[in-house]
Amino acid sequence: MRIHFIENKDNLIMYLPDSLRFFKINSTTKSIIIDIINSQDKKYIIDKYEITEDNFNHLKKFVSDSSKEVLTYTIDEYNDYLYKLILNVTSECNLNCVYCYEHNGGNNSKSHNSSNEVMQKSLDLFFDKYKNILNIQIFGGEPTLNLDAVEFIGKYINDKYTNGQIEFKPNIGMVTNGTCASDRFIDIINKYNLELTISLDGPKSINDKTRILKNGIGSSNIVLNNISKLKKFTHSIKAVESTFTQYHVDNNLSVLDIIKYLKNELQIKDVHVTPVNAKKAKDFYLQNKKSFIDSIPAIIDYKSKTGQNYSYMILDRMISDLLHKSTSKHICNAGLSTFSVSVNGDIYPCFMLDNVKQYKLGNVFDDFSLIKQVDRFKINKCKDCFNNTLCFGCLGSNYFSTGDIYNTPNEDCEFKKKLSEQLIISLANIS
Ligand code: SF4
Ligand code: SF4
Repeated sequence: MRIHFIENKDNLIMYLPDSLRFFKINSTTKSIIIDIINSQDKKYIIDKYEITEDNFNHLKKFVSDSSKEVLTYTIDEYNDYLYKLILNVTSECNLNCVYCYEHNGGNNSKSHNSSNEVMQKSLDLFFDKYKNILNIQIFGGEPTLNLDAVEFIGKYINDKYTNGQIEFKPNIGMVTNGTCASDRFIDIINKYNLELTISLDGPKSINDKTRILKNGIGSSNIVLNNISKLKKFTHSIKAVESTFTQYHVDNNLSVLDIIKYLKNELQIKDVHVTPVNAKKAKDFYLQNKKSFIDSIPAIIDYKSKTGQNYSYMILDRMISDLLHKSTSKHICNAGLSTFSVSVNGDIYPCFMLDNVKQYKLGNVFDDFSLIKQVDRFKINKCKDCFNNTLCFGCLGSNYFSTGDIYNTPNEDCEFKKKLSEQLIISLANIS
């Protein structure tokens, strides 16, 4: 029976990792439960706490029933449909963002655009393998620098669908830095229903420090104008993605401030805030992720009152797992139901591992294999961790931090444990 007690000055919660259940309790109940777990004699417990035998039996049964594993394990590897295919249409970028993994050693291939032939082969290969592809994500570099490829992808999928070659039309998304809102791009967006996720790190004072044009000037003015134009002529802006850095902390901006800014100033509901992935030596390296933990009660409170989707990606997945009592045996679905095709057609588990040769899974002119992901419950440090059924992870982020996709850095573990605990406290307080 695994029980983890979560305590702060206002709350005491019993969390049962094997069933993803949690209950508010008081300190006496906690002591009784600890004595029950430690197999203290029934009479001893009844006398010590002055409770009735019925109370004792009830509590013992309740804890035992509640901690029985009722989890369903999500399947990350599907035979008939693919969750996400990422198509890199260019490795060029027109910004020089301070934290970009492209110049932090991740994707170090020579910059160039992909050809329509590579895009066609990619789509043919994956549509042949899978009955349905749920999401196509157009990615880069900055994908608007190769609008020919973007247009080709939209048209090719449209034609396949119209001709009855595929029965389900994938959702086509694009992650862009927001520096393009040309008439041609607007045309392509509207013709093929592209959904955009725009990168913006919050107010101009911060965004201009992190997301910089090649000439050294901040990109905010251009991006904010383009967001207005795109909003006026399309319905394509689905989300804003913000990278949270030490610069935010130094300027007294919390995760919640970013979320509020994007909601109030830009009326964008779906906001993803993620902590920066960076080497410790960099001055934007986030020295601690306290702001993420601190923001949870307000985010949960707001979500429960309005149903609005204010979050950073991981929180939604954790809430869903707690709600549905489900978990995955894999750290994430990279290489199982997410694949990324590089500009030259090489296939990798995720864009974060593009051009990391040891993780290359194949090429679109040939074939590919799935990654052999380890069962995360068998990873030594995770086996006995209270957080192992709720924990999320990122193979790419692990790789950049430790050089091993399966090795989560200890400080990330501390963050994830605190995040889970704060989330459970916040959910317990609204349920
Ligand atoms: S917090 Fe760390 S040790 Fe615990 S399950 Fe997650 S990755 Fe494993
Ligand atoms: S490696 Fe990271 S970014 Fe890629 S699918 Fe996994 S969690 Fe998502």
